Amino acid sequence: MLADKDRIFTNIYGFQPWGLAAAQKRGDWDGTKKLLEVGADAIVEAIKASGLRGRGGAGFSTGMKWSFMPKESKDGRPSYLVINADESEPGTCKDREIMRHDPHKLLEGALIGGFAMRAVAAYIYIRGEYVHEAHRLQTAIDEAYAKGFIGKNACGSGYNFDIYLHRGAGAYICGEETALLESLEGKKGQPRLKPPFPAGVGLYGCPTTVNNVESIAVVPTILRRGAAWFAGIGRANNTGTKLFCISGHVNKPCNVEEAMGISFRELIETHCGGIRGGWDNLLAVIPGGSSVPCVPAAQIMDAPMDFDGLRDLKSGLGTAAVIVMDKSTDIVKAIARLSYFYKHESCGQCTPCRVGTAKAGKLMQEPVWDGATLEDLAQVMSDASICGLGQAAPNPIRSIQKYFPDEVSEAAWKGKLPSPGEPLTTEHSIHGETK
Ligand code: SF4
Repeated sequence: MLADKDRIFTNIYGFQPWGLAAAQKRGDWDGTKKLLEVGADAIVEAIKASGLRGRGGAGFSTGMKWSFMPKESKDGRPSYLVINADESEPGTCKDREIMRHDPHKLLEGALIGGFAMRAVAAYIYIRGEYVHEAHRLQTAIDEAYAKGFIGKNACGSGYNFDIYLHRGAGAYICGEETALLESLEGKKGQPRLKPPFPAGVGLYGCPTTVNNVESIAVVPTILRRGAAWFAGIGRANNTGTKLFCISGHVNKPCNVEEAMGISFRELIETHCGGIRGGWDNLLAVIPGGSSVPCVPAAQIMDAPMDFDGLRDLKSGLGTAAVIVMDKSTDIVKAIARLSYFYKHESCGQCTPCRVGTAKAGKLMQEPVWDGATLEDLAQVMSDASICGLGQAAPNPIRSIQKYFPDEVSEAAWKGKLPSPGEPLTTEHSIHGETK
């Protein structure tokens, strides 16, 4: 269990004020100029040494990602840092808490990360529905400008750095980094083909790194306390602390910062008061947001909650949005509901995803589940979709075919969803009878 002294987000529940004065009392913006004085390359090396892996889901080394940015501009193009605050994955609600209650951690991290990548500005792309959070963040940005922490000669460092807040319009796909860049540029939010990668050709055709809110917000503390401190928490290759969002059938759903690699059982017992109805009542868990495969109870109970531990279970840590389902859950209906979500949110740009997400939903509605056809479809979607939405959309369906064959058999299935041709809509509850 993570000791209180090792917590980075000391105001994640908003028990203290969120504004600049309170943030400074918590240590934010303390000696930032000194942190910058070590130089851009030393900061990148420290973040590499800390073992920080991207907290937005992909789990790629943050320091390594930063090192892909050009050290100098040979053609006059500026570099940018873009912060992905388009938190829309079902089950995920961690970045929201940072922006609500600890926005200055994010802003200070943006300045340091931007400096390390020689960026001239950061753009924070926040999901449109986060109205309250956007207001807070903008107020925090204004406070930081007024104090000279950002803007010209940021923190007295001689470095000029601007931060802009941009509100999205509510499309899930804009959480995909290249769709986000398209949207920021004022275009339709549809993913780009890669390569070129954003580090070469990103925002406005300039070198760009896109990082998740949590990845950036932990940076100042890592530099203050040292890379070795962060690397000493968790397990090898899965270091540091992580915000977990635990929802579903636990006694006390919550967001909590914990050490990477904590076991599922300890996470739930310590912070959520256990499983509703006891551990024997646990059915399955989606451990990393709705796009990762679900894991049956017996496999997850003592699994380490980190990138490698969950990959070994053929699932993923994703955003660490842990969705717990007890035995009252109709697992087929629950996954069908997620399948509908992906169909709805597909941007429609490529055929495997546009047609595949619709077709998968229809196949699930058949009275007899055609597993082979679903598997074929899932394979095509994984192999041929442009971006992660289409590639990952079949994962939850595949996982219940594998782990819950009885539930998807004809007898268990008949009549649980509207018949073929009748659309599955948000009106269809995942628990209890179809409305
Ligand atoms: Fe759009 Fe889906 Fe293709 Fe991604 S995979 S580009 S969301 S249609």
